[in-house]
Amino acid sequence: MSITTQEQIKKGIKSLNESEQFEEESLANIEKVFKFSLKVKKEAKKKIEIYPAFEGDSNQKIIQREHLADFSKIVIKEVFLLDKFNKMCEIQASFDSKTSGKIPKMKEALNNGIIDFHKIQKSLAQNNLKYFNTLSKKVGVGKELLYSVSLTVFKPIFELCAEVGKNRIKDKLWEKGYCPICGMNPKMAKFEKEVGKRVLWCPLCGTEWIYQRIKCPFCENDNQKLLRFFYIEEESPYRVDVCDVCKGYIKTVNEQKKEQEEKTVFEIENIKTYYLDEIAKKEGYRKI
Ligand SMILES: [Zn+2]
Ligand SMILES: [Zn+2]
Repeated sequence: MSITTQEQIKKGIKSLNESEQFEEESLANIEKVFKFSLKVKKEAKKKIEIYPAFEGDSNQKIIQREHLADFSKIVIKEVFLLDKFNKMCEIQASFDSKTSGKIPKMKEALNNGIIDFHKIQKSLAQNNLKYFNTLSKKVGVGKELLYSVSLTVFKPIFELCAEVGKNRIKDKLWEKGYCPICGMNPKMAKFEKEVGKRVLWCPLCGTEWIYQRIKCPFCENDNQKLLRFFYIEEESPYRVDVCDVCKGYIKTVNEQKKEQEEKTVFEIENIKTYYLDEIAKKEGYRKI
């Protein structure tokens, strides 16, 4: 579930605060980004055309296990993107002095048309991030900053698109480890409270889909001896599932170990468990 209300943002920030991992200032920055994303999502409804992204026969695509949407084909008004990129730059500028020093260059490139929105959209949609290297040299700022600003602007638009398309997917028919809407690999999973169904989460468009409990979503290995998981504390609802065939890992929320009945908001859980990404990488596993 992606964030769709102010209330979810409030609750999410509260729960991040309670995890005692974040300084007040970082929490304020996270909150700003969430609020910005929500605003983009609301305003984008009238500024984009989604249907070109769903070209072709959806049923046929599902049968062939091809993801349904091509986000690079969403038509988005340039002036809308320009406005949102500028606003996101201002938000980033308020984070720290190192970033704020880079923002004038970014703004100049935006307003001179050096930053090609369509190329950015395409590279994010296809998870081919080479364009950010090229752009980084052209603009003279780090690719991380360019990527982060771009993703924050485009992600809410991709989520909108996914919300339109999700009714076309039937989980039983899909059964793949990659996102049925955009094709991206999942970043997190959960075991649902009731029957413990395993649900995967796409970090690009927020889609959630059911997947087998004992199977690697990246390489489809289902040999139990080569699939393991680890956790930091036994009572914790968080664990990391790893595959010793492809060395991929996925962070998992076990809702059965959660005290409250609350639904998992992956956007929040992902931030709350950054420390698990660090540990997984140290153990020799990687993001696939
Ligand atoms: Zn997706
Ligand atoms: Zn694997």
